[in-house]
Amino acid sequence: MSSVFHRSAKTYPVAVRGQGVYLWDASGKRYLDGASGALVANIGHGHPGIADALGRQARALPFVHGSQFTSEIYERYAARLAGLLPQDGYRFWAVSGGSEAVESAIKLARQYHTERGESGRYRIVTRKPSYHGASLGALAASGMGARRALYRPLLNEDAFPKIPRPDPRVDGEQDARQLETLLLQLGPESVAAFIAEPVVGASDAALSPAAGYYQEVQRICARHGVLFIADEVMCGLGRAGSMFALSQWHVTPDLLVLGKGLAAGYAPLAGVLAAPHVHAAVMEGSGAFKHGFTYAGHPISLAAGDAVLEVIEQQNLVERSRCAGDALLAGLRDLAQDFSQILEVRGRGLMLGLVLGDPDTREAYDDPGLAERLGRAAFAHGLITYPGSGALDGRRGDHLLLGPPLNATDRELDELLSLLRVACTETLTGRTHPA
Ligand code: PLP
Repeated sequence: MSSVFHRSAKTYPVAVRGQGVYLWDASGKRYLDGASGALVANIGHGHPGIADALGRQARALPFVHGSQFTSEIYERYAARLAGLLPQDGYRFWAVSGGSEAVESAIKLARQYHTERGESGRYRIVTRKPSYHGASLGALAASGMGARRALYRPLLNEDAFPKIPRPDPRVDGEQDARQLETLLLQLGPESVAAFIAEPVVGASDAALSPAAGYYQEVQRICARHGVLFIADEVMCGLGRAGSMFALSQWHVTPDLLVLGKGLAAGYAPLAGVLAAPHVHAAVMEGSGAFKHGFTYAGHPISLAAGDAVLEVIEQQNLVERSRCAGDALLAGLRDLAQDFSQILEVRGRGLMLGLVLGDPDTREAYDDPGLAERLGRAAFAHGLITYPGSGALDGRRGDHLLLGPPLNATDRELDELLSLLRVACTETLTGRTHPA
């Protein structure tokens, strides 16, 4: 009997080894990691350079507490990461996971306004569906019924009002004006920030809005003194085909939240890049961000982040994500021709999604969940995918996210497509032979 508190009562294979795009379990079965875990392992598994970097940092300085020290690796890595933004002067706040980073951004936005004498600003406007994390603040910010239901009494609805998700078929600027309508209803003087995931992953199938949406969001936020928080925990660091996804809309947010691909699974690392005016308001005001975690700025995690960034840059993985993503998108669209329940294929870079549903009603099937079934079939055939719900308004089992390591080869991506075809053939209705 296992002593581990597993996520569910199902039996999990025991993973023993990872190399490149592949994982092996204790029985010797091989899996092609078509989702990089949960779009995390962006440089693949078992990269020898990273293990060396972790070892060096562990020997030199494994830990200091942020109330007493900074560290050489924190200073160096923060400068390197901030240097990737088109604007100077951003500061990096490092934590251990995406939810912690979202909590940090929410608190920082709130403190920014109080430092400036606007203590009435507390609301964080978000979208629905959306996913920003599992801790209670980040969950309150998330518009995802299934993950929120149990905890609803603990989530402050008034503090986290929501607008609908973007619709790529609608004019981007017009779509974004839903934000302004809500701000005017609420009274913008009560709103601290708007948070959005530029390319939506966990709650939708790699959804992004039409051109102009985020530029208009930025103008609306600026007009009403509201900070714009971009949650790039999933879509950042090359995943969506550019180092930061929002740069595809030529926008740099006030707070940029990163996670997952930052240390690509080699250590727990996430964080917030804060614009100079946000940092200055805190430091020239009360002088301290009133927030902290014991493991914030962990040297070993930062060393992992630095080594991962080196690989991304050396191997040109942002460019690779864009080109390989275009090819995989074409392959998936080809596959979709044969299965009527694949309603749509979309995405950017190597962040791609299949929207699944009833071809007649174009709505989702309910429990037991089509995407879950497809994901399970793929797993049985040795392909890891990331099934979810939200793409069809939160009904269960309606999308499948794909996000292989950015350095997957063409041959490995072809293998991904073949394995997915086998799983689709087993699970979905064919176009010519309905089940
Ligand atoms: N934000 C986004 C956009 C995410 O996709 C996730 C996780 O999937 C999170 C935040 C939460 O990150 P974590 O699971 O590392 O706490």
